[in-house]
Order: sequence, then structure tokens, then C-alpha cells
Amino acid sequence: MKIICVGRNYADHAKELGNEIPDEPVIFMKPKSALLQSHTPFYYPEFTNELHYECELVLRVCKNGKYIQERHASNYYNGITVGIDFTARDIQDELKKKGLPWEKAKAFDNSAALGKFIDITPEFNPKNVNFCLYKNKELVQQGNSGQMIFSFDSIVEHISNYFSLNIGDLIFTGTPAGVGECVVGDELEGFIEEKKLLSLEVK
Ligand code: MG
Repeated sequence: MKIICVGRNYADHAKELGNEIPDEPVIFMKPKSALLQSHTPFYYPEFTNELHYECELVLRVCKNGKYIQERHASNYYNGITVGIDFTARDIQDELKKKGLPWEKAKAFDNSAALGKFIDITPEFNPKNVNFCLYKNKELVQQGNSGQMIFSFDSIVEHISNYFSLNIGDLIFTGTPAGVGECVVGDELEGFIEEKKLLSLEVK
């Protein structure tokens, strides 16, 4: 199982971090050890002083494939939830400055928190999924899949040109604007529409 993540997939988020709007999906990965198991506490990592939350829609891959065409891509995922792509922003800024890979900032243990999945039904409209994140009961991030620069299906196509997709893989599809710091004691709650799917406390 692997976790594939898309960076800079919302224009307003790319801008808030001073990044250019990409002309093809920005892809990075997290290993299996990055997955925060449900009901496991999330501990503030000792190597950072600037931990950020990034709330994202996450797809669950249900079929093995490679070179998947966009028009067939929706057959390759069958569940959706919200997740948090935890980011050590101070480390990432240093690595970016030096032109180095991001893994230390993005792929550390438990850096991928996952909500409870909703099964995708035929009525599901992937172009209109509202999601949001509350920190300590205050709305901090709000997005709609229609704002994504690259749609779910074009992401699946693009990823599968480089990496085989396998059943159980997860795809984090990018974060909207509003990313910010979290500290010990913060409570994070993620929603799709009105359904609370994710809830965790930073310990
Ligand atoms: Mg992200």
C-alpha cells in the first residue's frame, strides 16, 4: 500500500505559499508508516517547530491499474474521505530553498491522518464535493472539489503513467487555502458536507 499526494492543486493555496500554479500535477508520496491508524493518538513531532495541517479529499483505490485513461479513471476508486497531510513547514521551507526532496517534511510517521470512508455511489458527483476542517471548533479550511486544478480523474490518469495503482492505495488530492499551524492540545475535525469523518487531537 502506498500514499500518493498531489501538491498545489488549488490555486488559492498555491498562492498563499507563494508557489506558481503548476501546469501538470505535483506528485509526492508517503510510505505506509506515514498512515496514522484510527484511534491512535497523533503526537507532535519533535523535529519541527511549525507543524501545519492540510485538509484534503482522499480517494481509496479499488482496482489495480497502469496507464489508466481519464475516461475510465472513476472505475479505479470507490471511497472518499477527508485526510490531513501533516507538514513540518519549517523543514519543508529549508528543503525547498536547497532544492532537496520533501520527505522529511511530509512523509514522516503518522503524517497522513485519515477519516472514515464514504462509499462512492453512482449518484456521486466528483466535481461538487464540499469539505472543511475545524480547529478547536473554528472553521479554518473550506474547499470544493470543483476548485481543483486537476480533477480526480485527471490525477488518476497522470499518476498511473508513472506508478502502478494498487488496491488499497490512497490518493490525497491537495489542500485548499487556509493551511496553518497546529500545536499540542488542538482538536481537528474534518467534514465532507455535514458528515464528520475525522476527529483527532494533537498530543
Ligand atoms: Mg497537501
